Amino acid sequence: MQNSNKATLLTPIEKISKIGPQYQKRLKRLGIETVEQLIFHFPHRYQDFSKITPVKEVEIEKTVCLKGEIKDIRIVRLFKKRMQIIDAKLKDSSGEISVVWFNQPYLASTFKKGDFVFLAGKIVSKKGKKYLSSPSYEKIINEENPDLTHTGRIIPIYPETEGMSSRWLRFIVKPLLGKIKNEIKESLPQKEVLEKNNLLNIKEAIWQIHFPDSLARAEEAKKRFVFEELFNLSLIILSEKMKLNKERAINIEMNVGLIKSFVEKLPFSLTADQKKAAWQILKDLEKTSPMNRLLNGDVGSGKTIVALLAILNTAEKNLQTAFMAPTEILAKQHFETVKKFLKNNKDRSMPKIKVGLITAKENFIDGKKITRKEILEKIKTGKCQVIIGTHALIQEKVEFKKLALIIIDEQHRFGIDQRARLCRKQNFLPHLLSMSATPIPRTLTLTLYGDLDLSIIKEMPEGRKKVITEIIKPEKRKQAYGFVRKEIKAGRQAFVICPRIEPSNSTDEKKQQELSWFEVKAVKQEYEKLSKDIFPDLKIAMLHGKMKTDEKEKTLKGFRDKKIDIIVATSVIEVGIDFPNATIMIIEGAEKFGLAQLHQFRGRVGRGKDQSYCFLFSELGNNPRLKAMKSFEDGFKLAEKDLALRGPGDLTGQRQWGLPDFVMASLKNIELIEKTRQAAKEILTKDPELKKYPLLKNRLKKFQRRIHLE
Ligand code: ADP
Ligand code: MG
Repeated sequence: MQNSNKATLLTPIEKISKIGPQYQKRLKRLGIETVEQLIFHFPHRYQDFSKITPVKEVEIEKTVCLKGEIKDIRIVRLFKKRMQIIDAKLKDSSGEISVVWFNQPYLASTFKKGDFVFLAGKIVSKKGKKYLSSPSYEKIINEENPDLTHTGRIIPIYPETEGMSSRWLRFIVKPLLGKIKNEIKESLPQKEVLEKNNLLNIKEAIWQIHFPDSLARAEEAKKRFVFEELFNLSLIILSEKMKLNKERAINIEMNVGLIKSFVEKLPFSLTADQKKAAWQILKDLEKTSPMNRLLNGDVGSGKTIVALLAILNTAEKNLQTAFMAPTEILAKQHFETVKKFLKNNKDRSMPKIKVGLITAKENFIDGKKITRKEILEKIKTGKCQVIIGTHALIQEKVEFKKLALIIIDEQHRFGIDQRARLCRKQNFLPHLLSMSATPIPRTLTLTLYGDLDLSIIKEMPEGRKKVITEIIKPEKRKQAYGFVRKEIKAGRQAFVICPRIEPSNSTDEKKQQELSWFEVKAVKQEYEKLSKDIFPDLKIAMLHGKMKTDEKEKTLKGFRDKKIDIIVATSVIEVGIDFPNATIMIIEGAEKFGLAQLHQFRGRVGRGKDQSYCFLFSELGNNPRLKAMKSFEDGFKLAEKDLALRGPGDLTGQRQWGLPDFVMASLKNIELIEKTRQAAKEILTKDPELKKYPLLKNRLKKFQRRIHLE
């Protein structure tokens, strides 16, 4: 093992001698692989042990830090309770107190009589006697100048993670910080940003966020990091916009007559938000600089039809659109939707449009299956105007005649470079519309709105009923199944989502593999149970990640044709699929999912005119996340609730927008966001390429990989 004295920020954690294989695994589970990532793993709160209380003055129920000498220490075995107790006495100049630790027998050899220690913990009382219960401890070698890490100061508490205590992290991080002090480089501009906004420099901030001198100092450190994240975000949004404004795109004039008549013939009327979004998009397309618009709307809000208007307007000019979906199933669904709406052969006012689908296995133009070679040829010669596929396929080696518009559904960012790569042979960039259901915090839309072209669909289509959500405890299961049967007999359909299973002790990749096998097993079991014991009279099918695409498609087609009543699935059901006749969503082991995911699942029902239901099967009737699901329907509200429930710094959930939770929690602070935006503007106006700020530029590259402004 390499000497950790030589550690740099990029040193892998395996090279740090104190971090053994078990801990390496645990850290990696948190996405921590380098020293840099480790020191940027911040505490989410602090405990103030900086004040030393004399033993004589301790009060029951108070958390205190004591300092003194170990007088006596012994192990007591409680055979009945199968417990070992360490019983010690601490003495200071004011008096003596008992100290007790449970089941930590090694402590008996850690301390000797006469050791000087700091102990921090809670005072409890038993039979009228006060004692200090399971305190944090620190043995002092140099009493004059103790180097304190766990007691006698403000100590960091890190987000709880299985098998990794805050004590261990402090033990690792503190010496590491000392060693790599000179490796940490400031990337924020000194005068324009740090001084102007009164921010701590990076070295001070990273130290103070882990081992603050005072709680106020910890706040200052946090403020710096929040500022930095938002500043970087602003820089990216602004500089992308500036770059794009210099690029050329084909201006696609709006054919108002065509759009109007198309909208009038739809089987439903568009919501006001849909109309507004469509208008904004069509107006963007008329510009000679490339559009970069995000269409954001909750699941089921009807984003696809808005995209269709842009496709129609583009195809009518004989220009091409690439429409990309995250999965083949969704690509196929979009293909069907586009055909259904844009290829009404009876309607003579509609332009003749050819729609293509590219998947790994098969390719279609309109209703006809053709070879890969043929479809590529048709795209190259411009005979096919709308091309649908997954991101991977479209990005590969498809050559377009005139690609004027790219639409990306439910995906992360798509940078200018990627755009350029898609149309290497063109002397213009395509317009870009990305669509997403990930809620964007209100404050961000308020402040960054001007820089980020954003269309939001808030309003749900008319006639949608609120999905009735119930938490179903085991004793109510039978009743719920009865209800499901009744609904299905009345012609409705249902989804059953199997619980998520987390295999432990494996690396990420292996974990993913195992995970899907475990999930498949869960799906099979659930399928057996439902089809044999619960609903032998109904038609049930499975859907999971290990099925081949055509098997999946067959199942989904069967479901669409109502030949299947219930689909038992893993989380593959999650994104985008649209079955208006499915009205019941059952989620097994619901407490195992995050709020965002539960919301996505629920979004699969409630898409038609019939009343829909979401049953959260769980043993825990009181789980706060499940309760939030029951109370809130709105994805934006749930996202806020999610943040509140998790608390800043809790790593159990997914990052939203790629921003750490402590930054998300600061998004209420409009003034702060505004300041970061101003700072970004100032820097970019003077130096659009950031030539004078190489470190900042470098940092932004990393940052960009992490965030996704979907
Ligand atoms: P998402 O925004 O989640 O992608 P979709 O575009 O899949 O939602 O739309 C969900 C369903 O709502 C589709 O079946 C679509 O045809 C339907 N829909 C869209 N707009 C309206 C509307 N204004 N009125 C009624 N139904 C609509
Ligand atoms: Mg969608």
